[in-house]
Amino acid sequence: MGKLLSLPTSNLRIERAEVRPWSMPLGMRTARGAVAVRRGWHIVLDARGHQGWGDVAPWPGFGADHAAVEAALERLDLRAETLPFDLPAPVLHGIEQAQLDLAARLAGMPLARMLSAEPARRVGTHRLVADAAAARAAVADGAIALKIKVGAEPLDADDARVGAIRAAAPAADLRLDANGAWDRATAARSIERLARHAPAWIEQPLPADDLDGFAALRRNSPLPLALDESVALFAEAIVGLAAVVVIKPMFVGGLRRSLDLARAARREGARVCITHALDSRVGRLGALHLAAAYEGVGGPGVHGLSGPGPCAPRGRFIPLPAGAGLGDVSPMGEAA
Ligand SMILES: [Mg+2]
Repeated sequence: MGKLLSLPTSNLRIERAEVRPWSMPLGMRTARGAVAVRRGWHIVLDARGHQGWGDVAPWPGFGADHAAVEAALERLDLRAETLPFDLPAPVLHGIEQAQLDLAARLAGMPLARMLSAEPARRVGTHRLVADAAAARAAVADGAIALKIKVGAEPLDADDARVGAIRAAAPAADLRLDANGAWDRATAARSIERLARHAPAWIEQPLPADDLDGFAALRRNSPLPLALDESVALFAEAIVGLAAVVVIKPMFVGGLRRSLDLARAARREGARVCITHALDSRVGRLGALHLAAAYEGVGGPGVHGLSGPGPCAPRGRFIPLPAGAGLGDVSPMGEAA
């Protein structure tokens, strides 16, 4: 057995531990096809009249698949005090999050305080937009950064769409995300062309495993380049490679490891963008608390957390929910 992850409630007797499957309609198109339904599991731990919640939600293309995660959950001892680091990342995420939530609720403090002495009370976020009308609406609502998916259409179409969004939002940070859709030659050509719209960065121009290609691309890029899928695949090994590191705690394997990774990336001079992975309400709340812990008081970061429910932005910020632990985890927004 390799390195062990020690858990925050190791001195506590867990009275009940449960794994509950959840699913919710997503209706999303990705570079890998349609994702109609998002599925995962909640880990629920009970002790002294409190419940801690953790989310386990794998995603195709980001590490372990659904079947591998399900098999690992079946073998898991939910009351263990330590876990082997070689469990699938979403499993480590779920059990650590449930433990942190439980410990925070027992201590009567927000989960973010378990990670940092002075977490931010609100977190800056970008908004995902697909066209100029959506960009205009987001900016009118207070957004200062917009995320745009590219790479699914020919370069001419992306160029025209990003240009229209830039005209609609001349002062906004534009964050382009290719989700690994380009080969090396297309990526070089696309970056060169899209640079005229002055985006803040371009994310994952190449497939996740092409780190050599990414390093070469970055040496010649007129723009900052970000990694996301590669972070899910290689975790700490990408520190120092990218100008921007996108961190999804579900795929990094937990909130504490994500915070360490974020701080390591910052020490190397990278910008950090913390996001959820379209997880359930529980997972999204965890990413929000992580971003608050990373930013600390008055942190200037703009992360990628906006969405419905607890991550609905007010202007450019999402407020950290009131109450102990993750905050209100009901309604879950998904049916078992
Ligand atoms: Mg991305």
